[in-house]
Amino acid sequence: MKKLLTLLLAATLGSACSATPEPLVAIQESAPHVLPSAVALGGRPSFEDVLFVTKAQTDVDSSAGFTLDVPRLCSDARTSAGFYGFYRTDAWDSKRVALTFDDGPHEKLTPGVLAQLEAHGQTATFFLVGRNINRTTYPLVQRMVRTGHTLGSHSYTHNVQMTRVDAPEASVAEIVGQHAVTAMLIDLALVASSADDFDHMFAEVFERDPAVWLTGTIIRTEWRAYAERHTTLLHRLGYEGAQRPYHVVYSRPPGGGPYVEQNGARGITIYDRAMAELGMVNVLWNSASGDTVPEKRKDFAFLTDNIAKGVKAGGVLLIHDYMRPDALAHSLAAIASDTTVRVVSLGDGIERKYACSERELLAFLRPGA
Ligand SMILES: [Zn+2]
Repeated sequence: MKKLLTLLLAATLGSACSATPEPLVAIQESAPHVLPSAVALGGRPSFEDVLFVTKAQTDVDSSAGFTLDVPRLCSDARTSAGFYGFYRTDAWDSKRVALTFDDGPHEKLTPGVLAQLEAHGQTATFFLVGRNINRTTYPLVQRMVRTGHTLGSHSYTHNVQMTRVDAPEASVAEIVGQHAVTAMLIDLALVASSADDFDHMFAEVFERDPAVWLTGTIIRTEWRAYAERHTTLLHRLGYEGAQRPYHVVYSRPPGGGPYVEQNGARGITIYDRAMAELGMVNVLWNSASGDTVPEKRKDFAFLTDNIAKGVKAGGVLLIHDYMRPDALAHSLAAIASDTTVRVVSLGDGIERKYACSERELLAFLRPGA
């Protein structure tokens, strides 16, 4: 039976990858642009500080020897350095949509997103930016878990240029560190009992002022030391061995990283190596709301039409916490009222693509977790 399922999956995914997907909204996020003075003062970014650019999204799938058009079972990870991922070329059933929200948590914008999802009984995956997790926003992370959402890492700095083909070794180290540090911050957010408690734990793990952001360079060189102190802290709190408050299974490269850039093959090789080392599932997307397109971000019809198309096609849908709220409300209500649409989780996607559960996959990727 399992063999039959494998063959069916191979047939389905193989044909999907050879087909040319319909062009989707061309989007490329840019790195959050924050004035140096704001960083020096420990200022937090507002979404108004973020500059957006558009760039053509190519049909790049993973390369570097990781062939994803032939599905592999989770157990294959035992004997290879492989990793797992969702890409634009993946086949999904129509009207089966995994909602994903990027760039939070944001003190003012994220509560509205959570309230709307809660109102419709929908769950999503939030790809969190590590430096946005702080003494003010940590309760939002707790609320996400409490209400059934999935947490993923969207890196710490959201630097879309962190994959540098001229410095592959340093890039791998930074990408791994960026996601590892964000996963640590998710843990701190989930166990924090107060804002001061969050800051105290931050200072213990990172040995830095919680009000000042870490940099990519610092993370690249220091993240292993952070990991050791993070483990020490968790053990003091009663966690044993590799136990932790939350195992981050999924990550998404900021801006889609090298997977959405032109001529990104060399960058993909680097990013793929980091994913294999991290043991995280690399999550791109099949469709997008279009909320990053500068001249269209306020366009209600543009946003809701894009989501409707993405839902109809099925797959991973990219939205941001800062999407125009009434357009998001309209779209989520439309999804809820259509009985033929089903909101699925990335774990459902794992089962469909890799024929194993999310928990089994985690056990293979991180033995002892
Ligand atoms: Zn982003």
